[in-house]
Amino acid sequence: MLTLDVSTDFNALEDLHSSGVTLKRDLQIVRGEGAYLYDAAGRRYIDCVGGQGAANLGHCHPAVVAAVRAQAEQLISCPELFHNPVRARYQAALCTAANMSRVFLCNSGAEAVEAALKFARLSTGRPGIISTMRGFHGRTFGALSATWEKAYREPFQPLLPGVTHVPYNNLERLAAALDETIGAVLVEVVQGEGGVHPAQDGYLQGVQALCRERGALLIVDEVQTGFGRTGWLFAHQQDGIQPDLLCVAKSIAGGLPMGAVLIGERVGALPPASHGSTFGGNPLACAAGLAVLEVLQTTDLILRARERGQALRDYLQTHLPERAVRDVRGRGLLIGIELRGKVAPALKALQTHGVLALPAGATVLRLLPPLVIQDDDLWCAAEIIVDVLSAETRNAD
Ligand SMILES: *Cc1c(COP(=O)(O)O)cnc(C)c1O
Repeated sequence: MLTLDVSTDFNALEDLHSSGVTLKRDLQIVRGEGAYLYDAAGRRYIDCVGGQGAANLGHCHPAVVAAVRAQAEQLISCPELFHNPVRARYQAALCTAANMSRVFLCNSGAEAVEAALKFARLSTGRPGIISTMRGFHGRTFGALSATWEKAYREPFQPLLPGVTHVPYNNLERLAAALDETIGAVLVEVVQGEGGVHPAQDGYLQGVQALCRERGALLIVDEVQTGFGRTGWLFAHQQDGIQPDLLCVAKSIAGGLPMGAVLIGERVGALPPASHGSTFGGNPLACAAGLAVLEVLQTTDLILRARERGQALRDYLQTHLPERAVRDVRGRGLLIGIELRGKVAPALKALQTHGVLALPAGATVLRLLPPLVIQDDDLWCAAEIIVDVLSAETRNAD
């Protein structure tokens, strides 16, 4: 049935059999190393997409590759109905790192959010959820119900009932909505997909205080901000809060698909069979996760993300033309540049100049460089971004 010469046209072949739900770039990536990606012709790019958040340790980090290789020869699948020593070590390491007592392992960010919503319902018996405007939590029905963006939600109504969205960084509106029907408040530390909006000082502490006062659980979604991205192992540590449920995924396992919900003391018992996942806690992902924690805990990558992120934001703030740019925001190496116009042409121009970056909505340019990026490459990318955004405004004249 194939109508294509597959040896020369893999992009067309892929398009022929893809669902179509993802808008693809005209670029075929075949290899990655550290903060570099290589296309089919061997051209090298500086990667500020960072696996869409999954590549904090860069591509094919040697410690992750070694751990995966060794574990793959030992045992790949092992459902949670059996004990497994790699899982045991990983759960202990992750709980200790996050200062939480228990963990549920799954395979993606949306699954982690989904599990947290179910655990909150089980634990509190309350049906309501509060999430935030501009928040993003994933695309499954529960996670989608908590997500704000209309374009993602509207085609799929009716969604989960009882979900209320309040403005982010606004405690008054949260206090007004947080009544005895609410089982959980779900927030990000930096709204990533929603345009890179960080929590203001004191906001998350206020959210935590309101949750405790009214008997709701605090679910923190760190799927994008976790594992060193913002200059802390978990971004909420900067805010001095203790989530009741902490959702993580993306960079948790060096690029392998994995997610987790860390569970705190305020969450009640979760009875057997109340939730589950066939692949959750598989030894291959756990081995990769252990390697990731080990690297983050024994190197200065996290502190460097904090310092270099600040330096990069300062540089961009002073060098980007005001005519093109409204704002530069972020924490650590999660950076958003809000443009006055559309971001799509800038992304295209950056790709032409060898830098890959992401959007966050229609007008925000988002940078998620691997934390392992070399200084030279980070500053090279910064200069290219300034050049491209300056040229964009000149062209618009
Ligand atoms: C990416 C993301 C998700 C969804 O994760 P998937 O692995 O794509 O399901 C959820 N929450 C946040 C904050 C995210 O950035």
